Amino acid sequence: MQTDVIIIGAGAAGLAAAKELSKQGISHIVLEASHRIGGRAYSEELAPDVWFDLGCAYMLKGDDSFNKLDESNPFLEIAKEQGEAVELNDYDEHYFYNGKELDYTQSKAREDFFESCVEAIKRAAENGEDCALSDVVDLESPYAIAYNDVMSVTAPKDLDEISVADAFHGVEGYSEYITPNGYGNVVARWGSDIEVSLNSKVETIDWSGKEVIVETAKGTIRGKCVISTVSNGILAAQHIDFKPRLPDWKLDAIQGITMGAENKIGVHFKKKVFDDGVSGLYQSWSDDDQGAYMEVNLLNSNVASVFMGGRFSQWMEKQGQEACHDYAVERIAEMFGNDIKKSVGRTIVTAWHTDPWTLGSYAAALPGQFYQREPLKRPVGDKIFFAGEATARAHGTCNGAYWTGIRAASEVVEVLK
Ligand SMILES: Cc1cc2nc3c(=O)[nH]c(=O)nc-3n(C[C@H](O)[C@H](O)[C@H](O)COP(=O)(O)OP(=O)(O)OC[C@H]3O[C@@H](n4cnc5c(N)ncnc54)[C@H](O)[C@@H]3O)c2cc1C
Repeated sequence: MQTDVIIIGAGAAGLAAAKELSKQGISHIVLEASHRIGGRAYSEELAPDVWFDLGCAYMLKGDDSFNKLDESNPFLEIAKEQGEAVELNDYDEHYFYNGKELDYTQSKAREDFFESCVEAIKRAAENGEDCALSDVVDLESPYAIAYNDVMSVTAPKDLDEISVADAFHGVEGYSEYITPNGYGNVVARWGSDIEVSLNSKVETIDWSGKEVIVETAKGTIRGKCVISTVSNGILAAQHIDFKPRLPDWKLDAIQGITMGAENKIGVHFKKKVFDDGVSGLYQSWSDDDQGAYMEVNLLNSNVASVFMGGRFSQWMEKQGQEACHDYAVERIAEMFGNDIKKSVGRTIVTAWHTDPWTLGSYAAALPGQFYQREPLKRPVGDKIFFAGEATARAHGTCNGAYWTGIRAASEVVEVLK
């Protein structure tokens, strides 16, 4: 089979690239290893009419917190057109330390500590230090564990594995909007007009000659160039065999921006268990225990989503689905009482770190490696172009991934002119 552009991966980046190339009238084929489109944008029905997002859930948009650059979210408009964007108005935050909810003074101290971390990151990054977050925040603070728990879920790595420059340049999202029936479903509906060859795992990319020859589980495809949108986990594990191998500068970049681990456990309850008005974030931690971080009853869903991040999340993933389920139910019971256990219905446990199509949740630069973001997105030999969330300015987001697909498609158009 022959085409101009071979797009690898049908997540937000690959689908956006395909749409852009269609607009420009350039022939292309989208190859997707799995049985579905959407990639890390993926919703499953947790209970009848209750949808749970295993990957992206919050429609992030907004300022890059320090550089004040705007990163719009096209999926917000798309979701609105689909009648699927709901403003998140009722959202409380509750924090518990050593078993007790923080009082006003402690809440203020917690906020001040989090603010001091932001300032410390800013100072270090502005001084050109690309050290680890653990080098600049006060780890002795009673709020340091809570900070690590938040960062490990959102970064998604522990403080010693997060580059301050990467954190500094990240786009600070705010999630005023969510989708009642799943962000993954919004992306899948939006992408449904694109022809995708499913179950077509790319095994080899031979770019040694004039054209590019791609071997897949379903046969050979020839094209002028390739847009790779696979995760950095897949690239780092060399699940795709490049012939000749990628240049050292590209391999170094891939090794510098590694995958973190965020997982979620969605727990649905068979009967109404949350009092009216209970909706939002619940976080607890103690001096001697792993903290818990969960979102409860958003849009009166009767669901608690328990988050795990960083090394703890990787370790829990290894313990298996049942252990993750038990962990989540215990944490929920600690907050809402043991009786709640009787009403536990279906649960969904994610396992992104070992997911064969991603090998991680999303990527973040290791300390000292932020500069690798630039070579990571640079094309190789005008034949292999790179998109996907790790190459986005709003890295680790679905909207960021979308813009990388548009960017890579535009680079290809320039080369093919
Ligand atoms: C737990 C979690 C929570 C998140 N929360 C949010 C959030 O709230 N808001 C937000 O904006 N973002 C969030 N994200 C991030 C967001 O989901 C991703 O950044 C985005 O979906 C990535 O899109 P992508 O196109 O870059 O990659 P992917 O969606 O991973 O697409 C790449 C595709 O390539 C395919 N592939 C892999 N190997 C091969 C191969 N050899 N051959 C062919 N195809 C292959 C994969 O199957 C996949 O479909 C979250 C992610 C996770 C995991």
